[in-house]
Amino acid sequence: MSDDEQIYELLIIGGGVSGSALFYEISKYTDIKSVCLLEKYEEISTLNSNARANSQTIHCGDIETNYTLEKAKKVKRTAKMVEKYCLQYGYENEIMFKHQKMAIGIGYEECKFMIKRYEEFKELYPYLEVYDKQKLEEIEPALIFDENGKGRDEEIVGVGTDSQYTTVNFKALSDTFINNAKSNKDIKTNVVFDTKVDTIEKIDGIFNITTTKNKTYKAKMVIVNAGAHSLHLAHKMGHGLHYGQIPMAGSFYKSSKKILKGKVYMVQNPKLPFAALHGDPDVTLDENTRFGPTALVLPKLERFKNGTFFEFLSSMQFDTNVMKIFVDLLKDSDIRNYILRNFLFEVPYFGKLAFLKDARKIVPSLGTKDIEYAKGFGGVRAQILDKENQKLMLGEASINTGDGIIFNMTPSPGATSCLGNAQRDVELICEYLDATFDKKQFQNDLEEGE
Ligand SMILES: Cc1cc2nc3c(=O)[nH]c(=O)nc-3n(C[C@H](O)[C@H](O)[C@H](O)COP(=O)(O)OP(=O)(O)OC[C@H]3O[C@@H](n4cnc5c(N)ncnc54)[C@H](O)[C@@H]3O)c2cc1C
Repeated sequence: MSDDEQIYELLIIGGGVSGSALFYEISKYTDIKSVCLLEKYEEISTLNSNARANSQTIHCGDIETNYTLEKAKKVKRTAKMVEKYCLQYGYENEIMFKHQKMAIGIGYEECKFMIKRYEEFKELYPYLEVYDKQKLEEIEPALIFDENGKGRDEEIVGVGTDSQYTTVNFKALSDTFINNAKSNKDIKTNVVFDTKVDTIEKIDGIFNITTTKNKTYKAKMVIVNAGAHSLHLAHKMGHGLHYGQIPMAGSFYKSSKKILKGKVYMVQNPKLPFAALHGDPDVTLDENTRFGPTALVLPKLERFKNGTFFEFLSSMQFDTNVMKIFVDLLKDSDIRNYILRNFLFEVPYFGKLAFLKDARKIVPSLGTKDIEYAKGFGGVRAQILDKENQKLMLGEASINTGDGIIFNMTPSPGATSCLGNAQRDVELICEYLDATFDKKQFQNDLEEGE
């Protein structure tokens, strides 16, 4: 049957890690007979799910000091799914890696905070250990010594582990989702590249998805996993108009050495929507250390590609509510300084000096020769603006119209939660299409035991 005649049961828009995880779960755990994925670019995960766009971290909540215990429980469940999936197919040391990881507190207040957090979280993460200065000297010496070999004066404490899987190449993971989905011959699976969706219309109960090349695909149900573009597509259909979004780009500085042995995160200012600067081994750079990300407001939806300014403008939905959110944010001196400082990080020469000053909080010996601006690294986290409540929302959001189409917005930790988000959607899809979800098999394969 040609594409013009085919009515797919499900059509997914966007082939990042979210879209490909959903494609996999549909093929593996449901009796749905046909699924099509449309991707704007020439391959899977070229934008935020690319290994060089994000920090490659499995955010399971143990060292993310901005997560409450409640949020940590949620992310732990979905993070474990990524781990179990990789173990199921034997992807360890190929796509998923183990590194030492820790969050550090520096100075009296932060150390006190870290110990209190450890006490609160140790039941959920029994493997966590507390590292004092002496232990840190041994396991992560770069945290302690300056360029003259002199030890840090301030108090420092680390809370972490070396026993867990910490790191994933999310682009490689996405490729496996597609390949493993396609290996099921009982379902028609179709992935179409170089295909940008322009409009979505529901006509006589069937979605007509028309591309910019004027080709129309038809489906009974649609899931939009188009990252920063999802809200734009929702707005075009008149959905989610109570949301706007503001794209925050993240950049990195990289080193040609393994300055750190593992992942090192810092205590986060709770007012700021992003994880504080951290250092990570980059699996695409021979595990050399990458520092970042920064957070820069950019008037576009894709970091390194042009042509998305008007999509940015329309998806922001600028009005007095959005204005009020911005004014409130800028009134706070911590947030104002953070935004200005992050602009400075992008300025040649001065940016590096400013960034070094912050990064030296982690590695006191870090010098200008140790790092360089990582060209071509980074992505965009589209932060959702809740216009009704005049607030910047933190984290992910989903618009379920209840009418056969769902739009997912996935800033961090969207890559970690790809399988969990997909599971949520699979259940909704099966309900809508009257299909069966093999939940038992799913739990067996991907969920942690009791
Ligand atoms: C700097 C930075 C650091 C991060 N670090 C981490 C981390 O360490 N751990 C973690 O879990 N998360 C991290 N994240 C978040 C994570 O990268 C994202 O949540 C995740 O990649 C989102 O995946 P996605 O598939 O939803 O979106 P994307 O990866 O953005 O994919 C969307 C896809 O949709 C396609 N698309 C868009 N519009 C259309 C259209 N009209 N038609 C067809 N296709 C379309 C795009 O081409 C793209 O392939 C980070 C993000 C950034 C920016």
